[in-house]
Amino acid sequence: MGAAEPAPRGGTGPTPSASAPSASRDGALLEVRAVEVAYGAGVLALQGVSLAVLPGEIVALIGANGAGKTTLLKTVAGLVVPRSGEIRFAGRAVSDLEAPERVRLGLALVPEGRRLFSRLTVAENLTLGTFTHAEATHRREMLERVYTLFPALRERARQRAGTLSGGEGQMLAIARALMSRPRFLMLDEPSLGIMPRLVDAILEALARLHRAEGLAMLLVEQNVPAALDLATRGYVLQTGRVVLEGPSRELLGSELVRKAYLGM
Ligand code: ATP
Repeated sequence: MGAAEPAPRGGTGPTPSASAPSASRDGALLEVRAVEVAYGAGVLALQGVSLAVLPGEIVALIGANGAGKTTLLKTVAGLVVPRSGEIRFAGRAVSDLEAPERVRLGLALVPEGRRLFSRLTVAENLTLGTFTHAEATHRREMLERVYTLFPALRERARQRAGTLSGGEGQMLAIARALMSRPRFLMLDEPSLGIMPRLVDAILEALARLHRAEGLAMLLVEQNVPAALDLATRGYVLQTGRVVLEGPSRELLGSELVRKAYLGM
């Protein structure tokens, strides 16, 4: 990991496409503009990051350990307060909104490590995901929707979340986020620690969800080929800066991605 020095806005990178202004897109659902995050007095985790996600788009966020991917998702969700920069969602500034208000606007995060309530059942974990839309009919509809997407969860509705396999737990974490009926879903490494068969099942469920509902997503994923296969575009983050961005096909063919993330 490189030294985290303060960077000029719209910092430099190995390719000409690495710049802040390119993230300003008309009609973007999510816009992150020149966001800087510092943890305490020391680590500058994000150094002027800008990116955009259009309605209905799946965008991949790629980067090595410590690049700032989780920090970026948490900042968008309202769990980390940036020291500067702006976040806009659905055309409005959300930087001053608390995390629950952002959920109400349609932003949902599936956090790294899943963060399930392990002593509660699958169904109870899902019900907790609806706290912003509490009516019973709505809850039943949403439950039906996520059980259709992940039939394994229906079979395990009364099982404690702590007894699920890694893959089932990830399905539950995604399903819980969907219970808030988001317009935008952020996923932090959904395939981490999961056996390949279930990784495929999860990515396939995300693809189905996207096809069926056009749900926009920002996907952090160590499995770079799988992430770029699902996404139409991607951003590469290195030590807190966007160093490369573009359509998935172009990223897969780029020297940086091939060397750093595909081992070629
Ligand atoms: P990984 O793939 O390993 O999860 P990441 O790309 O998600 O990495 P972050 O977790 O966002 O990276 O971390 C970015 C930087 O900020 C790292 O240098 C990390 O050590 C630092 N960092 C993250 N969280 C904190 C914290 N709570 N306090 C201090 N430093 C932190």
